[in-house]
Amino acid sequence: MAKLTSRSEDYSKWYNELVVKADLAENSGVRGSMVIKPYGYAIWEKMRDEMDKRFKETGHVNAYFPLFVPKSLFEAEEKNAEGFAKECAIVTHYRLKNDPDNPGKLIVDPEAKLEEELIVRPTSEAIIWNTYKGWIQSYRDLPILINQWANVVRWEMRTRLFLRTSEFLWQEGHTAHATKDEALEEAEKMNNVYSDFAEKFMAMPVVMGVKTPSERFAGADDTYCIEALMQDGKALQAGTSHFLGQNFAKAFDVKFTNKEGKIEHAWATSWGTSTRLMGALIMTHSDDFGLVLPPTLAPIQVVIVPIFKGEEQLNQISEVALEIQNKLKLKGISVKFDDDTQNKPGWKFAEYELKGVPLRIAMGQRDLENKSVEIARRDTLTKETRPLEGLDSYIEDLLKTIQLDMYTKAFDFRKDNITKVDSYEEFKKVLEEKGGFIYAHWDGTDEEEAQIKEETKATIRCIPLDDDIEEGVSMISGKPSKRRVLYAKAY
Ligand code: AMP
Repeated sequence: MAKLTSRSEDYSKWYNELVVKADLAENSGVRGSMVIKPYGYAIWEKMRDEMDKRFKETGHVNAYFPLFVPKSLFEAEEKNAEGFAKECAIVTHYRLKNDPDNPGKLIVDPEAKLEEELIVRPTSEAIIWNTYKGWIQSYRDLPILINQWANVVRWEMRTRLFLRTSEFLWQEGHTAHATKDEALEEAEKMNNVYSDFAEKFMAMPVVMGVKTPSERFAGADDTYCIEALMQDGKALQAGTSHFLGQNFAKAFDVKFTNKEGKIEHAWATSWGTSTRLMGALIMTHSDDFGLVLPPTLAPIQVVIVPIFKGEEQLNQISEVALEIQNKLKLKGISVKFDDDTQNKPGWKFAEYELKGVPLRIAMGQRDLENKSVEIARRDTLTKETRPLEGLDSYIEDLLKTIQLDMYTKAFDFRKDNITKVDSYEEFKKVLEEKGGFIYAHWDGTDEEEAQIKEETKATIRCIPLDDDIEEGVSMISGKPSKRRVLYAKAY
């Protein structure tokens, strides 16, 4: 197996190679769209199941809305339509016919032109709010707390596996509320759900914040987000939660009678995370040997590799290995016993390293005699010998330790890569030489934000929601600033 390009040599090449070699995904025959392979999909399923559980625990239910949005509905909320217009795929016809000039080829049948074009959803606010109109009459119909698991299409010009694809899988929550406060609370709550999921489940530290007006979701009054820092010092938007005000209710005429008998427009939120999280997971933890998966997300948590000569030895080892496997399974740990005789142990070691299996147990003839095994941790690449006695409990605890250690490692990396700067010169220097998050003052204007973006490619990732409030003056205009904001170059 050819080695991966190292991160220090070419980070972006490392990433692309890793995604393909670890069998997560590959490019497809469709421009900008990927095939998610079974191993990658198994990880996504774990993310999906855990998020789904957390959405349900916070009172949400799942539903499904159509893939196509008639153009007139899409146009209804102007800002949203304008924001997504450049990335839309549009269905204009519903039939092909044989090309009379080119046997064996098909052409669009001009007689099968749709009366109204259909937009392939880039996001579903329009179709959903058009539906909610029929569901909401009274305050008793509220809140509506719905999530949908779906695919969306955004015609991206520059695509990368998982990080930015033209079609991607995601979840989108769409809620309707009787009051502004309730909708705001929902938007914040779901951003917290994302943050907790990212930190506890993906072992990925995130900064929670609010987007600046220019970075807001099209059609939102406020966009909350979680931002993560990748190992190459670039930021990645890992999830967003929007407070949509009454914008969609007004566009789709969704009114209800409130408790006082007055007619009002409903208040809305929407929130989403996508298969981009797979990219975030990979770029937060993995190394030059391959994937490093937190135990919570590893399709295989423990692999047992027998080291043997001949069938008899394999049989002896298998007996003990299967016993270990059963004990671990009883603890809810997913274990693979790889007794394949085609590949050598060394090949298997490299393969499971590449695939990010958190723990590897190796067992040979001497281990059998000593009633012990060798355990190797994927995250630290360290090895130790452990007795068979009490092995299941030891491994159960070790998996928890790995989960925490991976978070701590990523957290420490982020801590080392947040730089406070006070001058624009310093800002440019840090950005150039070190990268990472830069914590600096901003005067609150679109102009200063745009100038910095134009000159350095760094954007304001968010105005953090923490209470690290420190007044100062902005780097360029020198105008007063109430607190520092988080800048970075981003994916
Ligand atoms: P949005 O609806 O724009 O707030 O996006 C919701 C989530 O989808 C965010 O976490 C985005 O980072 C993610 N996302 C946006 N565009 C893409 C894309 N082209 N590929 C993958 N994920 C995306």
